[in-house]
Amino acid sequence: MEVTASRAMPGHGWVLAACLLLLMGLFVALVSATQLRPGESVPVEVQPQPDGRMTLAFELPGEVTTRWALWFPREPVSRLQLVATDGWRSEALDFFAVGAEEGILPAGYAFLLPRDAHGPMVLEVEADGGLRGSMQPVLAQAIDIRRVERSGVALAGGVYGGLLTLAALALALAYASRDRLFIGFFGFTVALVLLLQAMNGHLYGLPGVRFFGLWRLQGVSALTLLHAAAALWLIEAYAMRGVVYRHARLVRGIGIGLVALAAVFLLNLPGLGEVSQALSAVGWTIAGLAVTGMLIDAGRRGVPMAWALTAATALTVLTGMWVALARHGLAPDGPMLHFGYQGAAVAFALLLALALTHRIGDYREARDRDRLARQDTERKMRRESARADLSTALQTQLHGLDPGEIPWQGFRLLMDHLLPLVPTESCIAVLRGYQGRDHLLVEPSDALPSVEHEINRRGLLLRRQATAGLALQQPVRPSVGGPVVAMEALVPFQVRAPGWGVLLLRRAGDEGFTTDEMSVIGELARVVQLHVDQAAAAVKLRRSAEIDALTGTMNRRTIDVWIERTFTDAERTGRPVSVLFIDLDHFKSVNDRYGHACGDDCLRAVSTALRSVLSDADMFGRYGGEEFIAVLPGRDGAEARAVGERMRTAVENCEVRHEGQRVRLTVSIGIATRQRGEDTPAAAVARADKALYAAKRQGRNCVQVAPAVFS
Ligand code: GH3
Ligand code: MG
Ligand code: MG
Repeated sequence: MEVTASRAMPGHGWVLAACLLLLMGLFVALVSATQLRPGESVPVEVQPQPDGRMTLAFELPGEVTTRWALWFPREPVSRLQLVATDGWRSEALDFFAVGAEEGILPAGYAFLLPRDAHGPMVLEVEADGGLRGSMQPVLAQAIDIRRVERSGVALAGGVYGGLLTLAALALALAYASRDRLFIGFFGFTVALVLLLQAMNGHLYGLPGVRFFGLWRLQGVSALTLLHAAAALWLIEAYAMRGVVYRHARLVRGIGIGLVALAAVFLLNLPGLGEVSQALSAVGWTIAGLAVTGMLIDAGRRGVPMAWALTAATALTVLTGMWVALARHGLAPDGPMLHFGYQGAAVAFALLLALALTHRIGDYREARDRDRLARQDTERKMRRESARADLSTALQTQLHGLDPGEIPWQGFRLLMDHLLPLVPTESCIAVLRGYQGRDHLLVEPSDALPSVEHEINRRGLLLRRQATAGLALQQPVRPSVGGPVVAMEALVPFQVRAPGWGVLLLRRAGDEGFTTDEMSVIGELARVVQLHVDQAAAAVKLRRSAEIDALTGTMNRRTIDVWIERTFTDAERTGRPVSVLFIDLDHFKSVNDRYGHACGDDCLRAVSTALRSVLSDADMFGRYGGEEFIAVLPGRDGAEARAVGERMRTAVENCEVRHEGQRVRLTVSIGIATRQRGEDTPAAAVARADKALYAAKRQGRNCVQVAPAVFS
């Protein structure tokens, strides 16, 4: 992922710029405090000697009691000593070994002149390794020199302290984020502190690290190179994160070269001092240019702070080069320039710290993304499992239900499974003419009366919305133009016209339902409807296999099953069972005379008449053609005969008209009763059949009971 600046707060850049300006002002104030005020110093005439020494001529004004001091900016020379013509010698100061009397973090070399020094004086300055052009001496009262020295201590202490704080912060961030870039920044900052301390000659006065003075100039060079390598690595990791960088190999090559060179200098081979300084300046400049190049590239891609860092790098490189030139007398020197390089380096570190903390935003973003993804997965899983649970519940609970109960039970299950997933104040399923009936389910159920009223009121509009087939949400206002008190989700069911149906969910407030919730509602509603439709169709199919299409009574297959069961039960309980065979008399001639359609009407009418005589416990069906069968559990022959007689009369009285003419219908009935030991119906059925034939032979329109001997 590419780092973008879009997260930055509005006005972020201005706040940053203001802070930097403030810091710069503080820095300039501190640097100017390290300078003597005009008139505090005495002019010194400097005459460089061909042998590298320097002759200083000056005239001390004022009282003999005034103590004077000569002060040189701290540059790396091995031994610095003043020699007067009268033989007085100052103590010898060494850049790489700070004496205890020089105090902590000295900004320069301060030499107290003899107590009685006054009037014109000439001093020789001796320096091992030659004096540098930038070492312009300052002559002033010792008390003023001490004052500016103290300011120097404050400046240096502030800079080091600030950098070490950044380093500590980097460690904390590395620990918290486990991002090794912060470790890199820690290394970079520590290397910068060490480098600045080495360049200012402060490292060699600190207990514990003063041994570093043994490396002399080569130590400074090695630190310069290591710091440059750290910057290079860090900026590449920061600026080129997530992109393929064309010059990555070159940059790494430079880094390795710098580290290798630093390693050579740390060997401290004799005579390499000056050479190491020149080489480290070159290496440092190359690294600075490479860093600038990468930052410009990053700036173009919108990496945060890249342009600010580019400016800081350019400033560091320019001031660094300037200091190097000034040190050799090739450029004018001044305190601001002298410390400017260090200030720029510190500003660079500060900006880099700010830039890196941008990554904290990245972690937060990544964490938020992770959390969202996890929530999404959890939601999907919950939804999927709710769907699966609902399917299972529908499969098991709709099975074997009465057709009228199937939709009701289905929508009940829908609410049971949907409401935990999509919390609402109320949920209404209203269906009109669905599977031949109206349905209204309300959760919570005590709201039913008011809901009924409301649905009737909204009927027309609801119907229109339902038939439009689009799920939607709409605000609920108790009065026209009033405030929104709730949001209502409306999800239509697929109901064949003229029927219609909708699921209405209501949630208080004006927030409504999320897209995700709407889709869950729609999905579960579809699942339920699918199952309800399937269950209803299955019942229909089962019924059609069991029922005679013409008369709507049982068909032969069903009767065979039932009669079998009845006989088994009767054998177990010892109760009687009677079987009645009913056949229409001369039905062929009815068909012939009135036509087949009229014949069918007669069959229906006869079936109704026959059924009307029977109780709920009795079984009745069409056995085939114009023959019917009735099975009467618990009734013996006499009882069955009575029933048969009633049947016969019922048919006789049954009114079927054809073209205004009454169709006369009669039946003959044969009856048989189960005998002991008969646990299958075959024998009884055969006897009943024979009894029917007997009835036909008797002249029809009569009832015959098969005697036991009949078989
Ligand atoms: P009987 O039983 O009194 O001896 O005379 P029948 O005329 O009823 O005799 P049969 O059993 O030979 O005739 C049965 C007739 O019933 C034949 C057929 O025309 C008629 N039939 C059978 N099934 C149907 C049906 O589903 N619809 C109509 N309209 N007629 C049927
Ligand atoms: Mg027949
Ligand atoms: Mg017949």
